Amino acid sequence: MSPSTMPSGLVSPQTLSEFDRVEPITASDAEIEQALSQADLPALLCALAMLTGDDDLLSEDLRPPTPPMSSTISPQGGMGEAAQSKARALALQKLRAYRDAGCPAADIPTTPALDRIMRFMIKDANESYLPILRHELGIPKDTGAPEWHKSQVAPDTVFRVAVIGAGVSGIAAAHRLQQSGLDFVIFEKNSEVGGVWWENAYPGCRLDTPNFAYSLSFAQKQDWPQQFSRQPEIQKYLSSVADAAQIRPFIHFETEVVSMVYEEAQALWCITLKNAAGQHSTQRFNAIITAVGQLNRPSFPQIAGRESFQGQTVHSAMWPQGLDLQGKRVAVVGTGASAYQIVPAIVDQVAQLAVFQRSPPWMLPTPTYHHDIRPGMTWLLQHVPFYGRWFRFWQFWIASEGRLPLVEVESDWVHPVSVGRANETLRQECMAHLQTQFGDRPDLLGKVVPNYAPGGKRMLRDNGIWAAALKQDHVALVTEPIECIQDTGIRTQDGRLYEADVIIYATGFKSSDYLYPMKVIGREGKDLHQWWQGDCRAYIGITIPGFPNLFMTGGPNTGVVVNGSAIFSAECAVEYAMRAIGHLLQSKQAAMDCKLEPFKQYNDVVDAGNLTKAWGVVKTNSWYKNSTGRASQTWPFNLLEYWNLTAQLKVEDYDYISLR
Ligand code: NAP
Repeated sequence: MSPSTMPSGLVSPQTLSEFDRVEPITASDAEIEQALSQADLPALLCALAMLTGDDDLLSEDLRPPTPPMSSTISPQGGMGEAAQSKARALALQKLRAYRDAGCPAADIPTTPALDRIMRFMIKDANESYLPILRHELGIPKDTGAPEWHKSQVAPDTVFRVAVIGAGVSGIAAAHRLQQSGLDFVIFEKNSEVGGVWWENAYPGCRLDTPNFAYSLSFAQKQDWPQQFSRQPEIQKYLSSVADAAQIRPFIHFETEVVSMVYEEAQALWCITLKNAAGQHSTQRFNAIITAVGQLNRPSFPQIAGRESFQGQTVHSAMWPQGLDLQGKRVAVVGTGASAYQIVPAIVDQVAQLAVFQRSPPWMLPTPTYHHDIRPGMTWLLQHVPFYGRWFRFWQFWIASEGRLPLVEVESDWVHPVSVGRANETLRQECMAHLQTQFGDRPDLLGKVVPNYAPGGKRMLRDNGIWAAALKQDHVALVTEPIECIQDTGIRTQDGRLYEADVIIYATGFKSSDYLYPMKVIGREGKDLHQWWQGDCRAYIGITIPGFPNLFMTGGPNTGVVVNGSAIFSAECAVEYAMRAIGHLLQSKQAAMDCKLEPFKQYNDVVDAGNLTKAWGVVKTNSWYKNSTGRASQTWPFNLLEYWNLTAQLKVEDYDYISLR
């Protein structure tokens, strides 16, 4: 098949190993050359070095210099023209030889050989990154798989695990549980897997982190159609992972967990479930892995009169199927990530659009945001063994320190907006982008410039469509605060009424109310939400003193906001939970309960860390913070530090409960 005749996506994989499937090359030299003109070269050099074992692909003059990330990422890792030409010529030579040899199956190199290829990309970076990178590459083996199997460590012990939620994290948990041979079930309140990607089906919904890196380490899809794929594509991926991992039979759909109560005598969790018919039942488990997501329960703003509106009310995360906005007067409340995608997607349908902004977000210039992966690149991904893995690895690597240095607070930096020198550079780059976008509309420019440091809250990708939407004659960007909502629309404090047929709340989620609205009762009747008092905390975001064998994914302070994706921390948490359960089974203990001291010490370190980042010190609203003003959602350090904390179980951090 040649690059120009290639279909946009392969058939769904039937097994996890099929995610790596490639097709044999039959293309001509000219067609290969054409494809190479659209290749991502650093990843291709690594994939070909792995395929051929040839060192000339990894020579010093080909090594991507990877300039530090600023508002944009350097294409080809900053490789110069000469290096790019040489890389393409070499790649053509290797691919031709591979084709002419009949596309033999690639030998999987040893770990030291792979490390050598990785070092080509990571240069002189901290060697301790290697284990995390091996995990992300998943070759020569899936290092995230549990190192134990129930049949070997505790064949006669009954140990049941409940997973709550079948989104990204729940799928990861179920897969790892299945690999370990444990007895488990998954409870999912929706009728399908996908979690946030199943629920958020609003127009324009798509990823805003690079797609290859936003995927599970054990199911690395090669044929993403875009760098930032649309919601249906991500939902399709998650559904295909659930199928290929064969976890669907373990999922109880339309089954919501209402409460979980720890029963000391048996060291069991009693879970109360509600089915689609509203009937309640209970089941008992030895351990629970919560995978309910952080951005899961929609939040409506407390605005006077909200219930009195007589038109249609919609939340971005509960989009009614088939909602017809054609010719309607629409109000959108909020200008966060969801609104940024909804407004450009609906602007051409509606008769009138009022966008209510409380504080503007910073925009990260991303000209390729909506681009398809180019045909040549897609062709290479579908024909070069493991190229998709190396491309994912490359995306992961360049983001892993990512923009973290750019949001660093410097104590000797004095500026009304930015928090440090690098942050100021980022601010100036983003300001230049705003000037370009809104320079011809000073009225709008005055409204869209944030007055807080970049990184103070979620930065949004922009390819120009936000400005293009706001500039249309039938659109108003309203910055006057909302006074109230009336039966016919939204009234602002200046007395003006914006009449609307539909109000869309793009007002986010109850992100700091972890595990809401489930009731969670631990040892000695300890009510989790009462204990937290709105200030949710956990030890490494996973365990909580007084709640034995309860493991959270996506828990407090695990949100990776500028240097990776939530999938990374979710996989870390799942693998930590598996390590902990393995330890319990091997040591013949019934349960483990996090001690208070490590919990406190850990939280002190994280709190101090967050105060070194823009989001910890700015005064603006954001979902990163809870009602006490503490940044309770964000992980303030690099990925390696979270990996190191979760890659080993410090058994001394727990008290153990034995029933013997
Ligand atoms: P959000 O970022 O929390 O934004 C909520 C918006 O509603 C903000 O503009 C907020 O204003 C506004 N708002 C809240 N209460 C208000 C009130 N009383 N009056 C006026 N405005 C009010 O929520 P989101 O846009 O749904 O995004 C949440 C997160 O989900 C994102 O940051 C991202 O991590 C994730 N997400 C990801 C994608 C993606 O990957 N493509 C897409 C969507 C969402 P203030 O800023 O002043 O608080």
